[in-house]
Amino acid sequence: MSLKLTRLICLIFMSIPFVTVAAAPKNIYPLDKGYLLEKNLYPDMLEIQEINPELVKLHILGFSGTEELPIYALEIGYPTAAKNVLMIGQHHSDEVLGVEIVFSWAEKLAKGVDSEKKIEAILHQYKFWIIPTINPEGYKVFTEGLYRYKRKNNRDTNQNNQIEIQWDGVDLNRNYPVFWDEDSTLPPTHRYYKGPSPASEPEVQVIISLAQKQHFDFAIFYHSSSTGSFSEKILLPFLDEENENQKRIYEETLVFAQKLAENLKRDYLRGKYEVSKVSSSRVGNARNYFFHIHNTRAILIEVGGIDKKSKSIVYPSARMKEKIVKKHMVALEKVFYESLK
Ligand SMILES: [Zn+2]
Repeated sequence: MSLKLTRLICLIFMSIPFVTVAAAPKNIYPLDKGYLLEKNLYPDMLEIQEINPELVKLHILGFSGTEELPIYALEIGYPTAAKNVLMIGQHHSDEVLGVEIVFSWAEKLAKGVDSEKKIEAILHQYKFWIIPTINPEGYKVFTEGLYRYKRKNNRDTNQNNQIEIQWDGVDLNRNYPVFWDEDSTLPPTHRYYKGPSPASEPEVQVIISLAQKQHFDFAIFYHSSSTGSFSEKILLPFLDEENENQKRIYEETLVFAQKLAENLKRDYLRGKYEVSKVSSSRVGNARNYFFHIHNTRAILIEVGGIDKKSKSIVYPSARMKEKIVKKHMVALEKVFYESLK
């Protein structure tokens, strides 16, 4: 090759800009570093209480049914706050983004009350009851890297005196005592097994008992759609069209859900979260229970996005998780603050 030609080839290569190819978003399992673990829940929540012990109280509401793991709650707010808000980060073991979101919200409230005017104002109106997970058994299995498809708790549903993390357990978001009889009866090994009777699960009984003691004006339940069919949607309860009082509360719930959705951009695709217009099914889930039994404005938020190939990403890298959590902090603060006016 002539010297001239070699120089020419070199020049052509040098003029091609370096192209960095971004890695495709994906689920990482075992989880990336930086996710909360079941064993750290207590010390981490204690730390939040210590930020502001006057305002934050750490409770153990009860224990899980098989392994008797504690179900923790942080009560955050002034005794004079007029309204109660319930936030549950998790019912289903593999849906961990909600745990991260409610945890960060608790931290933000505890830290912000002395320095941030908006948080201070929010806490004069609302008292928050924040429960990272009502399913500590499943959360432990999932976050310890033992089984990535874990959804239910660890009840020995096939009664062979062994815990089989793949098969055993009850779907806690089908076990609430409302419309339970109308839900289909699936075998105990099924992912959506609703349990042997309504509110059979101690984890669900803990939430019922709290609901009976505190009236909640709002309840937010975080989930993640692993199939991708509900990704980045906000779901409302089933509505009885004949019930006028219920329709009024439903309308208020809808407005609240829409405001949140408007403030939440999707993770990987263009656009924002949507409020699902599909009528919710009559099953024993938390939002139906709170709405129908306690007149609570109750919503479910499906966190975790889908990529261009419609693949659902519900436990992304720690970096992406931080981004998602941050976005939810901004939306929650904005919507709760604006609701004061
Ligand atoms: Zn779920």
